[in-house]
Amino acid sequence: MNAPVSKRDPAEEKAILDAIEVWVEKEVRPIAKKFDLADEYPHDLVEQMKELGLFGATISQEYGGLGLSAWTYAQIVIKVASAWMAPSGIFNSHLIMASAIERSGTEAQKRKWLPKMATGEFRGSLGLTEPNAGTDLQAIRTVARRDGDHYVVNGAKTWITNSMYGNGTLLLVKTDPQAQPRHKGMSMLIAEKTDGFKVVGKLKKVGYRSIDTCELSFEDYRVPAENLLGGEEGHGFQQTAGGLELGRINVAARGAGIAEGALRLALRYAQERETFGKPIWQHQAIQFKLAEMVTQVEASKRLIENAALKYDAGERCDLESSMAKFFASEAGVFCSQEAMRTFGGYSYSVEYEIERYYRDAMLMCIGEGANEVLKTVIAKQLVDRHRI
Ligand SMILES: Cc1cc2nc3c(=O)[nH]c(=O)nc-3n(C[C@H](O)[C@H](O)[C@H](O)COP(=O)(O)OP(=O)(O)OC[C@H]3O[C@@H](n4cnc5c(N)ncnc54)[C@H](O)[C@@H]3O)c2cc1C
Repeated sequence: MNAPVSKRDPAEEKAILDAIEVWVEKEVRPIAKKFDLADEYPHDLVEQMKELGLFGATISQEYGGLGLSAWTYAQIVIKVASAWMAPSGIFNSHLIMASAIERSGTEAQKRKWLPKMATGEFRGSLGLTEPNAGTDLQAIRTVARRDGDHYVVNGAKTWITNSMYGNGTLLLVKTDPQAQPRHKGMSMLIAEKTDGFKVVGKLKKVGYRSIDTCELSFEDYRVPAENLLGGEEGHGFQQTAGGLELGRINVAARGAGIAEGALRLALRYAQERETFGKPIWQHQAIQFKLAEMVTQVEASKRLIENAALKYDAGERCDLESSMAKFFASEAGVFCSQEAMRTFGGYSYSVEYEIERYYRDAMLMCIGEGANEVLKTVIAKQLVDRHRI
């Protein structure tokens, strides 16, 4: 299904983005280094996000959210990620769950879950990946068997962000493990944390620290049948795929934010640090880095805007969102690496925050479709649009 058409209001967008900028500079940037290095969860930021309405950013006003356009939302994510990427995951994964409910849920499901998701009273996540199945999601083994008015779930998930401190997850399961083609046996359950839903532990990560990314295990975990997304079995794979356009715009925005934040640090350092009697930015080698970085940042933003504007107009943007995600995530890696080189030996000191950007950047190339796969998607869509 195409995205809903979002009406944009420039004055409102500016007010929201100004408020986010103030919050980022006052509350997010100053704590990033300490919380990241300690791998400590930023509980206070979560409370502030509730007040700002971020947990309802893209949920329609009808269900208690702010109903922001994809364009505005992407600008918010860029601003947050340019200071510290990790907190953007706290509301991003939650909003992917919310948008799946809004897109594919029954009216009763929307009325039950979306208002409390919009306030942050219920904070969600996306439970797709399993130890044996990431890119190939149709290979998942978690099974939900119907038992009267419940499903009984057994299996395991891994790498599930927001699952320790959140209240539940949108769980991809096999309701018919024998189905052929495999996707016809897949469904999604709105899974609240109750008996049988076990968070095994927070994974230790290279980057994207502080945020709770965990393994989950399900042993005879009972989910009310009314929590089957959309009320009909067999649509889980399409429901997952239906969120990819917005999901890719979000990850692209995180990549662009990292790229911009890394450039900002490099630009400052290049003017402060002197070698051979002049600031290092006056050496051509460093000028080339700055030039390439700023060009990649700007190009990323334009690709994101292009995809978001199409999404907001209710048009398909599978090609545009894939290009934005591919390019902006690689820009995040490129710019953080070039900024590391600009910092020379000091890039390896945790005193200088550039090392965090470097550790965080690579994740954007992996999530919401690894770039290796995404390039094949881009090429196929390109040919589809220009068949001879
Ligand atoms: C920090 C972090 C947070 C995460 N958060 C979540 C979350 O909240 N919820 C969730 O469900 N998952 C989450 N994930 C999981 C993430 O979505 C998967 O790691 C991702 O989908 C890749 O799957 P995989 O790791 O199994 O890699 P694999 O699928 O095993 O891929 C390995 C390599 O093979 C390549 N490859 C695979 N198939 C193909 C193909 N057909 N063509 C070309 N190349 C191919 C891939 O591009 C990759 O380079 C998270 C992961 C991390 C690291």
